[in-house]
Amino acid sequence: MNTPFQNFLVNLDRAAQVLGISNEETQSLRESNKIIEKKINILMDSGEQKEFNAYRVQFNNARGPYKGGIRFHPEADIDEVKALAAGMAIKTAVVDIPLGGSKGGVQCNPKEMSERELEQIARVWARAMADDIGVNQDIPAPDVYTTPQIMAYIMDEYEKIKGRSEPGVITGKPLELGGSEGRGAATAQGGAYILEELVKILGRNKTELRVAVQGFGNAGQHMASILSKLGYKIIAVSDSKGGIYSANGLDIDLVTKTKQEQGSVTAVSDVEQISNEELITCDCDVLVPSALDNQIREDNAGAIKAQIIVELANGPTTPEADKILVEKNVIIIPDVLANAGGVTVSYFEWVQNRTNFYWTEDQVLVRLKPIMVKAFNDVWEFSREKGITLRDAAFIKAVERIVISMRLRG
Ligand code: NAD
Repeated sequence: MNTPFQNFLVNLDRAAQVLGISNEETQSLRESNKIIEKKINILMDSGEQKEFNAYRVQFNNARGPYKGGIRFHPEADIDEVKALAAGMAIKTAVVDIPLGGSKGGVQCNPKEMSERELEQIARVWARAMADDIGVNQDIPAPDVYTTPQIMAYIMDEYEKIKGRSEPGVITGKPLELGGSEGRGAATAQGGAYILEELVKILGRNKTELRVAVQGFGNAGQHMASILSKLGYKIIAVSDSKGGIYSANGLDIDLVTKTKQEQGSVTAVSDVEQISNEELITCDCDVLVPSALDNQIREDNAGAIKAQIIVELANGPTTPEADKILVEKNVIIIPDVLANAGGVTVSYFEWVQNRTNFYWTEDQVLVRLKPIMVKAFNDVWEFSREKGITLRDAAFIKAVERIVISMRLRG
């Protein structure tokens, strides 16, 4: 099986070939501008000194400063971080915001660490990367298992090192420290705007569409809640402990409350318990993977019943599964488009920090919607015109924009 970065290169090469880009240009697009790998040490609560691998990959900045989250995960390795950094460069270009792509990570297990230890990891990461990040250079943000609080520690450490206020060095901060209204729900909100456009184009009645959402964290919980309010029927949701299903539709406010109070959606009563695997292939119209990568694979893609997949997670579908789903005429809104609402509101946060003038939630949403709708319509029309998938269309549009910027730079 290909690594995540090899999967990225397959999509990139296909786009470069369609665009007729020279070998030299393609080669420079395939390479990360800078790969930073460091060992960081922190004092654990046990009194032991422990070493962790810390990464930052700055993939491409032809269109603007590098932008991308930081992941704290035991499996965060350099190949995954490279793939995510490259995906960010494509994503910022798909929605046409003036930023490049990067990503960071620390190989650690936050579920086994205390708040003090996590604060140490964040602060030591900031010290290790202080000369490589910056408001006009590279702007990190949250990703899996990193939170607004972690962003606050990194901002604070960076400001102490540089001796000045610099909230725009990082996004996804708490509101009280220069975060943006609407950032929490932004990824899901962007995906919801796109689904609404698609449903309109297909002439479907959304109240008849049954939705299954895998993952009930930042992306999945907000998506279930937004779609439920818009009139879609949410029939299945899940988290790492398992899933729940109700053919009549789930009460998402109740599911959210139960998850908050009891730690899992599986604690909801009077519903059918299902596994995460069963959720992927359950009888639904819209499937929204919002948890991990590689959830839709060659072995389960054939059994998928949904006609629309909205990839809120990064990399949920393997290339082999993609082929099977294309043959089944399933419409897949690819991750680089579907979840780009998150980085778009991160961009808004950076703009607000730089102007020191803050917007209301309505002002954020009024700006987010046209960006998402335009990006979707551009990709949709291009895919219909050329008879290609939305994933290929999104990659081609993005690569074209990056290459134009690279050429203009000479
Ligand atoms: P999160 O940590 O807030 O939530 C993750 C959710 O997935 C949790 O509910 C967890 O229980 C669930 N989960 C974990 N393992 C699972 C499994 N095996 N099966 C089913 N569910 C499982 O993370 P998030 O921020 O919501 O990110 C989820 C995905 O969305 C990731 O791929 C992330 O890269 C992507 N994403 C998030 C954002 C954002 O703004 N949060 C933006 C773009 C992309």
